[in-house]
Amino acid sequence: MRLLIIGPQGAGKGTQATLLAQGYGIPHVSTGDLFREHIASGSQLGLAIKAFTDSGALVPDEVTQQMVTERLAAPDAHAGWLLDGFPRNLTQARWLDALLEEREEPLDLAVLLEAPDEVLLDRLLSRGRSDDTAEAISRRLAIYHRETVPMIDYYDGKTVRVDGVGEVHEVQQRLRKAIDAALHAGD
Ligand code: AMP
Repeated sequence: MRLLIIGPQGAGKGTQATLLAQGYGIPHVSTGDLFREHIASGSQLGLAIKAFTDSGALVPDEVTQQMVTERLAAPDAHAGWLLDGFPRNLTQARWLDALLEEREEPLDLAVLLEAPDEVLLDRLLSRGRSDDTAEAISRRLAIYHRETVPMIDYYDGKTVRVDGVGEVHEVQQRLRKAIDAALHAGD
Protein backbone atom coordinates (compact mmCIF):
# COMPACT_ATOMS: atom_id res chain seq x y z
CA MET A 1 0.00 0.00 0.00
CA ARG A 2 1.41 3.38 -1.04
CA LEU A 3 -0.27 6.46 0.35
CA LEU A 4 0.31 10.18 0.67
CA ILE A 5 -1.14 12.30 3.42
CA ILE A 6 -1.49 15.98 2.61
CA GLY A 7 -2.74 18.77 4.81
CA PRO A 8 -1.87 22.12 6.35
CA GLN A 9 0.30 22.37 9.45
CA GLY A 10 -1.74 21.76 12.59
CA ALA A 11 -4.32 19.51 10.92
CA GLY A 12 -3.08 16.60 13.07
CA LYS A 13 -1.36 14.99 10.12
CA GLY A 14 1.65 13.61 12.00
CA THR A 15 -0.42 11.97 14.75
CA GLN A 16 -2.92 10.53 12.30
CA ALA A 17 -0.20 9.34 9.93
CA THR A 18 1.58 7.49 12.76
CA LEU A 19 -1.64 5.66 13.67
CA LEU A 20 -2.51 4.89 10.04
CA ALA A 21 0.94 3.48 9.33
CA GLN A 22 0.74 1.29 12.46
CA GLY A 23 -2.71 0.09 11.47
CA TYR A 24 -1.70 -0.79 7.92
CA GLY A 25 1.73 -2.13 8.92
CA ILE A 26 3.67 0.19 6.63
CA PRO A 27 6.45 2.67 7.45
CA HIS A 28 5.49 6.26 8.20
CA VAL A 29 7.87 8.39 6.14
CA SER A 30 7.70 12.01 7.30
CA THR A 31 10.09 14.41 5.58
CA GLY A 32 9.73 16.80 8.55
CA ASP A 33 10.81 13.99 10.94
CA LEU A 34 13.71 13.03 8.65
CA PHE A 35 14.87 16.65 8.61
CA ARG A 36 14.58 16.88 12.40
CA GLU A 37 16.77 13.73 12.68
CA HIS A 38 19.40 15.35 10.46
CA ILE A 39 19.29 18.51 12.56
CA ALA A 40 19.59 16.55 15.82
CA SER A 41 22.64 14.70 14.49
CA GLY A 42 24.48 18.03 14.33
CA SER A 43 25.84 17.29 10.86
CA GLN A 44 26.80 19.94 8.32
CA LEU A 45 23.70 19.04 6.28
CA GLY A 46 21.58 19.28 9.45
CA LEU A 47 22.83 22.82 10.08
CA ALA A 48 21.99 23.88 6.55
CA ILE A 49 18.51 22.34 6.85
CA LYS A 50 17.85 24.08 10.18
CA ALA A 51 18.13 27.49 8.57
CA PHE A 52 15.21 26.62 6.27
CA THR A 53 12.97 24.84 8.78
CA ASP A 54 13.44 27.56 11.46
CA SER A 55 12.23 30.26 9.11
CA GLY A 56 9.29 28.16 7.86
CA ALA A 57 10.68 28.03 4.31
CA LEU A 58 10.82 24.83 2.29
CA VAL A 59 14.11 22.96 2.19
CA PRO A 60 15.36 22.95 -1.45
CA ASP A 61 13.75 20.28 -3.64
CA GLU A 62 17.03 18.50 -4.52
CA VAL A 63 17.96 18.02 -0.86
CA THR A 64 14.46 16.81 0.00
CA GLN A 65 14.23 14.47 -2.99
CA GLN A 66 17.62 12.94 -2.23
CA MET A 67 16.48 12.17 1.30
CA VAL A 68 13.21 10.62 0.05
CA THR A 69 15.10 8.49 -2.50
CA GLU A 70 17.31 7.09 0.26
CA ARG A 71 14.41 6.46 2.62
CA LEU A 72 12.26 4.69 0.02
CA ALA A 73 15.21 2.50 -0.96
CA ALA A 74 15.34 1.00 2.57
CA PRO A 75 14.15 -2.62 2.80
CA ASP A 76 11.14 -1.83 5.00
CA ALA A 77 9.73 0.43 2.27
CA HIS A 78 9.39 -2.34 -0.31
CA ALA A 79 5.98 -3.44 0.89
CA GLY A 80 4.63 0.11 0.89
CA TRP A 81 4.71 3.36 2.81
CA LEU A 82 2.77 6.36 3.98
CA LEU A 83 4.47 9.57 2.88
CA ASP A 84 3.73 12.52 5.17
CA GLY A 85 4.77 16.06 4.23
CA PHE A 86 6.00 15.11 0.79
CA PRO A 87 5.36 16.17 -1.93
CA ARG A 88 4.68 19.77 -0.99
CA ASN A 89 4.82 21.41 -4.42
CA LEU A 90 4.32 20.51 -8.08
CA THR A 91 8.03 19.94 -8.76
CA GLN A 92 8.19 17.34 -5.99
CA ALA A 93 4.93 15.72 -7.15
CA ARG A 94 6.21 15.30 -10.71
CA TRP A 95 9.54 14.03 -9.45
CA LEU A 96 7.83 11.45 -7.21
CA ASP A 97 5.68 10.30 -10.09
CA ALA A 98 8.76 9.67 -12.23
CA LEU A 99 10.43 7.77 -9.40
CA LEU A 100 7.40 5.56 -8.82
CA GLU A 101 7.00 4.90 -12.52
CA GLU A 102 10.63 3.85 -12.75
CA ARG A 103 10.16 1.52 -9.77
CA GLU A 104 6.82 0.27 -11.14
CA GLU A 105 5.24 1.10 -7.82
CA PRO A 106 2.19 3.25 -8.50
CA LEU A 107 0.62 5.40 -5.82
CA ASP A 108 -2.66 4.06 -4.44
CA LEU A 109 -4.15 7.17 -2.89
CA ALA A 110 -3.57 10.76 -1.78
CA VAL A 111 -5.38 11.51 1.47
CA LEU A 112 -6.26 15.10 2.25
CA LEU A 113 -6.69 15.99 5.90
CA GLU A 114 -8.54 19.27 6.22
CA ALA A 115 -9.34 21.70 9.03
CA PRO A 116 -10.36 25.37 9.24
CA ASP A 117 -7.68 27.98 10.00
CA GLU A 118 -8.94 28.66 13.58
CA VAL A 119 -8.48 24.99 14.50
CA LEU A 120 -5.04 24.91 12.86
CA LEU A 121 -3.80 27.95 14.78
CA ASP A 122 -5.12 26.64 18.12
CA ARG A 123 -3.33 23.35 17.63
CA LEU A 124 -0.09 24.93 16.48
CA LEU A 125 0.06 27.26 19.47
CA SER A 126 -0.32 24.33 21.87
CA ARG A 127 2.27 22.15 20.05
CA GLY A 128 5.34 24.10 21.19
CA ARG A 129 7.76 22.93 18.49
CA SER A 130 10.88 25.08 18.13
CA ASP A 131 9.95 26.12 14.59
CA ASP A 132 6.44 27.17 15.70
CA THR A 133 7.18 30.89 15.95
CA ALA A 134 4.42 33.23 14.74
CA GLU A 135 6.54 34.18 11.75
CA ALA A 136 7.35 30.61 10.71
CA ILE A 137 3.73 29.55 11.16
CA SER A 138 2.39 32.27 8.89
CA ARG A 139 5.11 31.60 6.32
CA ARG A 140 4.31 27.87 6.23
CA LEU A 141 0.60 28.60 5.87
CA ALA A 142 1.29 31.00 2.97
CA ILE A 143 3.51 28.39 1.27
CA TYR A 144 0.82 25.75 1.79
CA HIS A 145 -1.76 27.89 -0.02
CA ARG A 146 0.61 29.03 -2.74
CA GLU A 147 2.44 25.77 -3.50
CA THR A 148 0.75 22.76 -1.93
CA VAL A 149 -2.93 23.51 -2.63
CA PRO A 150 -2.36 23.92 -6.41
CA MET A 151 -0.43 20.62 -6.35
CA ILE A 152 -3.47 18.71 -5.09
CA ASP A 153 -5.08 18.84 -8.56
CA TYR A 154 -2.22 16.69 -9.74
CA TYR A 155 -3.77 13.78 -7.81
CA ASP A 156 -7.23 14.27 -9.26
CA GLY A 157 -9.17 11.01 -9.28
CA LYS A 158 -6.83 9.51 -6.66
CA THR A 159 -7.81 11.68 -3.71
CA VAL A 160 -9.97 11.34 -0.63
CA ARG A 161 -10.81 14.33 1.57
CA VAL A 162 -11.26 13.82 5.28
CA ASP A 163 -12.38 16.29 7.95
CA GLY A 164 -9.61 16.61 10.55
CA VAL A 165 -11.74 18.24 13.26
CA GLY A 166 -12.50 16.02 16.26
CA GLU A 167 -10.88 13.66 18.76
CA VAL A 168 -7.80 11.78 17.58
CA HIS A 169 -9.52 8.36 17.53
CA GLU A 170 -12.61 9.76 15.85
CA VAL A 171 -10.58 11.32 13.02
CA GLN A 172 -8.58 8.10 12.73
CA GLN A 173 -11.76 6.08 12.23
CA ARG A 174 -12.93 8.56 9.63
CA LEU A 175 -9.62 8.21 7.80
CA ARG A 176 -9.65 4.40 7.89
CA LYS A 177 -13.20 4.30 6.55
CA ALA A 178 -12.48 6.75 3.73
CA ILE A 179 -9.22 5.05 2.72
CA ASP A 180 -10.64 1.53 2.82
CA ALA A 181 -13.68 2.63 0.80
CA ALA A 182 -11.52 4.36 -1.83
CA LEU A 183 -9.11 1.44 -2.13
CA HIS A 184 -11.91 -1.10 -2.55
CA ALA A 185 -14.08 1.05 -4.79
CA GLY A 186 -13.18 -1.03 -7.82
CA ASP A 187 -13.68 -4.46 -6.18
P1 AMP B 1 6.64 19.30 8.92
O1 AMP B 1 7.10 18.42 10.04
O2 AMP B 1 5.97 18.55 7.83
O3 AMP B 1 5.83 20.46 9.43
O4 AMP B 1 7.96 19.92 8.27
C1 AMP B 1 8.82 20.78 9.02
C2 AMP B 1 9.69 21.58 8.07
O5 AMP B 1 10.50 20.70 7.29
C3 AMP B 1 8.93 22.41 7.04
O6 AMP B 1 8.53 23.66 7.55
C4 AMP B 1 9.97 22.55 5.93
O7 AMP B 1 10.94 23.51 6.27
C5 AMP B 1 10.64 21.18 5.96
N1 AMP B 1 9.99 20.24 5.03
C6 AMP B 1 9.23 19.15 5.33
N2 AMP B 1 8.81 18.52 4.23
C7 AMP B 1 9.31 19.22 3.18
C8 AMP B 1 9.21 19.09 1.76
N3 AMP B 1 8.49 18.10 1.18
N4 AMP B 1 9.89 20.00 1.00
C9 AMP B 1 10.60 20.97 1.55
N5 AMP B 1 10.71 21.17 2.86
C10 AMP B 1 10.08 20.31 3.69
